[in-house]
Amino acid sequence: MKVSRNDIINLAKSSYNHTGNVDVVSLASQLGIEVYAVEESDDFVAQIKYSKKNDQFYILVNKNHPHTRQRFSIAHELAHYVRDHDKIKAKGAMNRQNGGDANEEHQADKLAAEILMPDEIVRDYMNQMDVDSTQVIKHGLIAKLSEKFKVSKLVATLRLRHLKYYVPYIEFA
Ligand SMILES: [Zn+2]
Repeated sequence: MKVSRNDIINLAKSSYNHTGNVDVVSLASQLGIEVYAVEESDDFVAQIKYSKKNDQFYILVNKNHPHTRQRFSIAHELAHYVRDHDKIKAKGAMNRQNGGDANEEHQADKLAAEILMPDEIVRDYMNQMDVDSTQVIKHGLIAKLSEKFKVSKLVATLRLRHLKYYVPYIEFA
């Protein structure tokens, strides 16, 4: 089933409202995509595949990577599913190694962050925390967001900046 950017953001919002965070595996399953955590070497991140024989999409993710990284990887592959649907069907697969060009990868990362931290939901959360875009975002709040949305602090920081909140530094710890 082909879905638009808005469709997947709406699914993400409804997942958040049901469970308190965006369940990317449930999102995939609502789209008819099967997700497998696989034993692979460390340089394998994730991949989306299409089987013509079964007319079925699959997302594979490295089971040894941290949970937040796996979630981001699955969201990234879901973004490819939305953006590069026909290409995956034609090529049979797409991944960071042999998949898209730099721009496609960048766009997939961007949509992945939007799926994990939907615009309205992040803004509501920031309002609840009594923070607006004129204030300097402190590290403690990045940590809270990272825990709430189950993303890395780096992803939380970049997403906030994209939404025009002021985060003056990145802590990689
Ligand atoms: Zn990719």
